[in-house]
Formats: sequence, structure tokens, C-alpha cells
Amino acid sequence: MRKEPKAIAFGFFFKMALKKITFLSLFPQAIDQALSHSLVGKARAAGQITLEFIQIRDFAKDKHRSVDDTCYGGGAGMLLRADVLFDAWSSAIEGGVRPHTVLLSPQGRLLNQDLAKDWSSSFEHILFVCGHYEGVDERFIESCVDEELSIGDYILTGGEFGAVIASDVLIRLIPGVVGNSDSVSTDSLEGGLLKAPQYTRPLEFRGAKVPEVLLSGNHKKIEDWRRERALERTRAKRPDLDQAYQLKKVKKP
Ligand code: SAM
Repeated sequence: MRKEPKAIAFGFFFKMALKKITFLSLFPQAIDQALSHSLVGKARAAGQITLEFIQIRDFAKDKHRSVDDTCYGGGAGMLLRADVLFDAWSSAIEGGVRPHTVLLSPQGRLLNQDLAKDWSSSFEHILFVCGHYEGVDERFIESCVDEELSIGDYILTGGEFGAVIASDVLIRLIPGVVGNSDSVSTDSLEGGLLKAPQYTRPLEFRGAKVPEVLLSGNHKKIEDWRRERALERTRAKRPDLDQAYQLKKVKKP
């Protein structure tokens, strides 16, 4: 399904950084509001990422501003019309360059950290199409969508919250958005393992003390302890990740 992006053709020579995300939605305020806080809000204010919101209804063809219709052949629910979506999508094209277009869909590839890292360094402009009602006319998907993205094996009312989650993950990966880059590179899932347990003040809480080794000042010992705990908890909490990690280790020359 994924069409080869232009960025990848040159990806051998340089990496792109994500600069802009456009949302095609019937409820753009919900996305705008959700992405206005904390690090993402600061990244927007600092110009590290630009978010653009396109109201699909602005491209309706009739005086009732309708954007959906019943399915040919029968069946429950209403579908977003291909012509309305196409006009909304076309309005996002700047200087003839089409954004990497992603439809939020339960039929898509599952979002994970590796996919987010790939996108955030491969595309300058990503456009999320947020479906609603029964979904989207297939002809719009065939002509405009580069890939479909799912945020999990369940059905949401619309693509808005999926787009919010994907955007939060992507924006966090833009260099400079998280002040201390170590905090991104040592996150759970980076390197295939979950992060070791972490502690802050007070030294003792309801009888539980901070592990002695973390107070030792011995960096090698601390690193070894963290690695052991990371392996242990990945095995216990996410056997699927542990298996993939062990396989990768075996394959390494
Ligand atoms: N009838 C569709 C189907 O069976 O595939 C589901 C439509 S759903 C009620 C409406 C919209 O929510 C979808 O078009 C999609 O944009 C979004 N959506 C629902 N579940 C999703 C998921 N797991 N991941 C991403 N987007 C989802």
C-alpha cells in the first residue's frame, strides 16, 4: 500500500526532519486543543512544528454542507464522499508537492516507535486524514492515500484521537523538541527493551527504599543494574518484545 516517498529516493544522502502536519477532519478543534499543551504546545510556539487544520465540511458541495452519503449496495452507516475529501486534500498541496498522506484506519499498519522514527526522519510534511462515520469512499484512498495507519485493534468513532496520538509520538522525535535528547534515546522501546524502574525523592516511601546501587555513584554498576532490570521486566511484561530482542541478538554477527 505504501507508495515510495520522494524523500526515500534521496534518503541515502540526507535525512529529512518533520516540519509540518496537516489534519483533514470534521473536528479539527479537538485535535488542535489536544496538541496545545506541554512539550508539543511549546514546539508549536517555538516553530519547531507547524500544525495545519483543514475542516472537511468547508469543501461540501451543497447548501446543507453535507460531507457523507449512504453506501452503494446497501449497508449500515454513512461514508465520507471522495469528491469532498479530494478537494479538501488538494487544498493542502503547496507548490505542487503532495504531503505524505496517511489515512487513520483500523485496517492500517499498527503504529509503533520504529514506524514513527522512520516517518519523522523521512517526511517534511505529513497529512492525516481522519475518517468518521462508517469510513471513507475507497476511491479517495486509491487516489490520494499513501498508507493507512491504525493505533490499535479496536474501533474508534473517528480518526481524530488516532491522529493526535501519532502526532504526539512524531513531534517528540523531532530533534530539539525534548530538551535532553538522552531522555528520548533511553525511552522504553528504544533498542527493543522496556526501561528499568526509576526513582526520585524521597529516599524512602512507605517503607520502600531506593535501590542501594543507584546511590553508589558507580556508573558502570548502575548501567549494569539498569540493563539487567530492563531485560527482566521486558521478559515479564512484554514477552513478544523479549523474543524479538533475543532473535535480533542471535542474528547479529
Ligand atoms: N467501518 C470502518 C471499518 O470497519 O473499517 C470503521 C469506521 S470507524 C467507526 C470511523 C473512523 O475512525 C475510521 O474511518 C478511521 O479514520 C477511525 N478509526 C477507527 N478505529 C481506528 C483505529 N483503530 N486506528 C486508526 N483509526 C481508526
